[in-house]
Amino acid sequence: MTKHYVIVGGGVSAVHAAKAIRDQDAEADITIFGEESGLPYNRIKLTKGLFTDLHSEKVLIKKEKWYCDNRITVQSSTRIVSIHPQHQTVETESGQCVEYHKLLLCMGAKNRALPVEGARLANVHTLRELADADRLKDSLQEGSRIAVIGGGVQGLETAWALQEAGYHVTVIEAAPSLMGRQLDPHSSKQLQETLKQAGVKVMTQAGVVSIEGTEVVTGVTLNNGVSFPCDHVVYSIGIVPNTALVQDTPLEVRNGIVVNEYLQTSDPNIYAAGDVAEMNGHVEGLWGGAMEQGKIAGCNMAEERTVYRKAVPVTLFNAFGISLFSIGNVDERYCDETVCGEENGAYTRIFVKDQVIIGALSWQGAAASLAYKAAIEQGARLSGSADGKSIEEIMTETQAVLI
Ligand SMILES: Cc1cc2nc3c(=O)[nH]c(=O)nc-3n(C[C@H](O)[C@H](O)[C@H](O)COP(=O)(O)OP(=O)(O)OC[C@H]3O[C@@H](n4cnc5c(N)ncnc54)[C@H](O)[C@@H]3O)c2cc1C
Repeated sequence: MTKHYVIVGGGVSAVHAAKAIRDQDAEADITIFGEESGLPYNRIKLTKGLFTDLHSEKVLIKKEKWYCDNRITVQSSTRIVSIHPQHQTVETESGQCVEYHKLLLCMGAKNRALPVEGARLANVHTLRELADADRLKDSLQEGSRIAVIGGGVQGLETAWALQEAGYHVTVIEAAPSLMGRQLDPHSSKQLQETLKQAGVKVMTQAGVVSIEGTEVVTGVTLNNGVSFPCDHVVYSIGIVPNTALVQDTPLEVRNGIVVNEYLQTSDPNIYAAGDVAEMNGHVEGLWGGAMEQGKIAGCNMAEERTVYRKAVPVTLFNAFGISLFSIGNVDERYCDETVCGEENGAYTRIFVKDQVIIGALSWQGAAASLAYKAAIEQGARLSGSADGKSIEEIMTETQAVLI
């Protein structure tokens, strides 16, 4: 009987898994079930290209022809509602029962809900799916005042897109600084200043306690008692893996669906990858990780035994006319030494632990990130303390020892 590989979820990990399976198994049937309409697309464009044509073919991960050429069936607008591991079947919302030989779960994540009164009012938005972006853009009117809740990468990219499109934007962040997980205090401060100069109002250490309005949003109230008027709220405060589908199955679930280094769940015929998967207590939640996990899961489903190795996390931020990167661990509390300097006229900082570079952040722009990434990935060891050395000297020293 022909093998049937079933993939639940039509995101980036699904596409890369399907490709990996087809590369190894020319005969098998491969079906991707995705609840969104249309083919899998580049989700990160929802913020990076909010006001571009998100329905263009250019936003697709692979064009229709590729699926035809590779005999990969995509059943879009089809939600899988249950899994029956003992029978090796899944069921669609319309009651269709589908048998699988191997099953891959890559249902991704949803944006963490805003736990405040008023969060269900009209004009409260979040960006996870193409339909969310359409809804947000359709509801905006000239001169709209928008509160963006969350000063992480996605929130700030959204703020930039909205501000560039001519809306009045206020960013509200509960933590003391913007992009606190990727930047040091100096860079966060500089970033906040850049937003201010671009005309975006920023409030840090500001928790939203309620959204005001009867049917539509009229304002926001903060935990310091301050209220201010706005017409829309867009929030981006983290993600929650979409694990509801497996709640009634024996699969092990913690924050995400638990997988081993082969991306295999506690059922040997079921794999999980991307934002829904948890490995070593951690859900990655990043595009590059989802892509690679999909690929490795696909290889392993088609009988190979390849271990997934988590890449060093890289954040590239291009908005408000600046381009900065943050790689690896940039938490001062975790390192022994840090070195700051101006590289090519741009603030740069390297983080060192046990004479090994473990993190770097810089305003030099994405192109400069490669050398730092290589040094961190390969655990480049310095000949001695970093104290008194310039960044240029450190990078020259590491280049010499890199493979
Ligand atoms: C606006 C935005 C910007 C981002 N920017 C960046 C960035 O700059 N850099 C970065 O590294 N990462 C970024 N990310 C994160 C990145 O997009 C995700 O890590 C990646 O898309 C995860 O891929 P995935 O395949 O696991 O899941 P997803 O892309 O979430 O796809 C999962 C799909 O499964 C579908 N689904 C769920 N349940 C079912 C079901 N029961 N039946 C059928 N289908 C189902 C969902 O509707 C969805 O279409 C961003 C995310 C968003 C939303």
